[in-house]
Amino acid sequence: MSTATPSTQTGSCLCGAVTYNLTGAPFSSFLCHCANCRKFTGSTYQANSMYAGRDSLTVTKGESNLSVHAYNNTTSGNTLRRHFCKSCGSPLFIYPDAAPGVVVVMSGGLDDPAAFAPTKECFVKDRLPWVTPIEAAQFEAVPPHR
Ligand SMILES: [Zn+2]
Ligand SMILES: [Zn+2]
Repeated sequence: MSTATPSTQTGSCLCGAVTYNLTGAPFSSFLCHCANCRKFTGSTYQANSMYAGRDSLTVTKGESNLSVHAYNNTTSGNTLRRHFCKSCGSPLFIYPDAAPGVVVVMSGGLDDPAAFAPTKECFVKDRLPWVTPIEAAQFEAVPPHR
């Protein structure tokens, strides 16, 4: 566990209707360049922090303002339940069906996103040509996260 990672973090969607607390440190912090993540975020890659235990994340406001999109056209065939704000559309977190003890948090929603430091990049074959790779963090698909 890095000392730079706070043990409690907060985050929200853009409009603030949904807020959450995170406890503990992520066991994996990574960028994903796959088309699935690119489309969902509307950005050029997705920044993720993986936490062990779904109780690592507590929605502190706006639980009823969450929508869930179950997406199963993934490389692995496993369904990803992508949670986002009904009002502003911000992607917030994912429950992967294949890993019921894991919650994946979109790091851009953190109130202190500087604490997010990726150590892995996934699906680098899909990385856009003008994005600079992080040395020694390159994975063709999904790396071991622990
Ligand atoms: Zn919102
Ligand atoms: Zn992805």
